[in-house]
Amino acid sequence: MQKIKNPSPLVWKQIDLDAIGHNLRVLKSLTTAGTSIMAVVKADGYGHGAVRVAETALANGADHLAVARFHEALELREAGIAAPILILGYTRDDEIDQLMALDLTFTVFDLESAQMLSKKAVARGGTIKAHLKIDTGMGRLGILPDSRRRDSALKGEAVAEVAIIAGLKGIELEGIYTHFASADCRDKAYADYQYKVFTDFIGELKAQGMEFPLVHCANSAAVIEMPRSHFNMVRIGITMYGLAPSEEVKTDHLDLKPAMEIHSIVTSVKKVPKAFKVGYGMTYVTEAESVIAAVPVGYADGYSRLLSSKGSMLIRGKRAPIAGKICMDQTLIDVGHIPGAKPGDRVVILGIQEEEAITADEIAGLTNTINYEVVSSLTARVPKIYSDSDSGEDWA
Ligand SMILES: *Cc1c(COP(=O)(O)O)cnc(C)c1O
Repeated sequence: MQKIKNPSPLVWKQIDLDAIGHNLRVLKSLTTAGTSIMAVVKADGYGHGAVRVAETALANGADHLAVARFHEALELREAGIAAPILILGYTRDDEIDQLMALDLTFTVFDLESAQMLSKKAVARGGTIKAHLKIDTGMGRLGILPDSRRRDSALKGEAVAEVAIIAGLKGIELEGIYTHFASADCRDKAYADYQYKVFTDFIGELKAQGMEFPLVHCANSAAVIEMPRSHFNMVRIGITMYGLAPSEEVKTDHLDLKPAMEIHSIVTSVKKVPKAFKVGYGMTYVTEAESVIAAVPVGYADGYSRLLSSKGSMLIRGKRAPIAGKICMDQTLIDVGHIPGAKPGDRVVILGIQEEEAITADEIAGLTNTINYEVVSSLTARVPKIYSDSDSGEDWA
C-alpha cells in the first residue's frame, strides 16, 4: 500500500527550524573562528527530526554531525546529507562494509574495536576514518589513560595501546575526543580534572609522535562555561534545540529559543457535578461542579504517566490541571475555570500560549528527569510539523 502521510494528527510536535538555526549561530558565536561545530543529532535529533535538524545545522555554521548509532547515520546519508558523520557509540562489525561505503566515521574506544575495524578495512581494501575515544572520567566508552587504570603502576600502557591502534592498517585516526560527566554542574572541579587527564594524555601521545587533526570534548555546557575546552571542535546538542543543559548552567544571556512545542486539540468536553470521579482508579474527584475535557495524548505517545494529577496543559491561554491518571491514549484536564472551552480548541502540552508557558524543564521537574528526556522520548505516534521562514509549514 502507498504510504500516506497523516494530514491531521490529534497530537503533534511543532518544530521551529528557524529557532534551531538561531540557536546554532548564537552558540557558534561563543567559539573562536576556526572551531568546527559538530551538531549532535542522535535520537532523531533529540526528537526534533534528525534530517531536518541536520540540514538546518549545516546551513547555520555546523560542519560535522554526530549520531549515536549506525542506523541513524544511514538515515542521514539516505536523505542525501554528505557532511562528515561521527558515530559516537558502538558499531557492529557486520555494519562496517556499509559504513565504509557511506563514508561514515567510526569511534575507536578500545584495541578490540580497532582491530576489528582494521580487519574489515583491509578485507575491503580501503581506509576507514575514525576518532579515538578517551575515557577521562565518564566510565563509559573509551581508552583509560594510565592514571585511571586499576593497575596504575603500569606506566605507558595506554600510550602503547594507542600506538598499536595507530599502526593498524586501514584506519585513519582523524580525531581524538572525550566526554564530560559533569560540565553542567556549577562546580567544575571534576570537569577540570577530566580536562587535565585529556590534555595530559594528548601530551603523552604527542611526545610519541601521535597527533590528531581534530580534538574535541566540549558538549553544550562546556561550550558555554569552559571555553578552554573547545579545542578545534565542539559537539553541540541540547542547546541547539533551545534548552539549557541543566538548571546550573546560565543560558538567559544567550536568548536560546526552544524549537519544539507539543500541541493537541480538545476532543470532548463534559459538565460534571461536584464529587465526580475521573479516570482509572478514580484518583481525581471534583471539589465542585466543573468541566472535564479530554485530550488525545497519553503515555504511549511518550507523555509521562508521572504527570497524572500533577502536570497541566494550556487551553485558551490558561493553565488546566491534569485530572487523574494519564491513560495510554488520552488525558483528562479540568477546565471548569476556563469559560467557553470546547471540542476543537487547541491544547498546548509543551510550549507557549498567550501569556502562559509550559517548558520542558517544568515537565522534567514534575517527572523527576531532565529536559533531554522530555523532548527525546515522545514516540513515533507523535508526528512533526516543521515551520521555517522559507518554506512555511510541512509535515513529516
Ligand atoms: C549527546 C552527546 C553530546 C551532546 O551533549 P549536549 O549536552 O546535548 O550538548 C556530546 N557528546 C557526546 C559524546 C554525546 O553523547
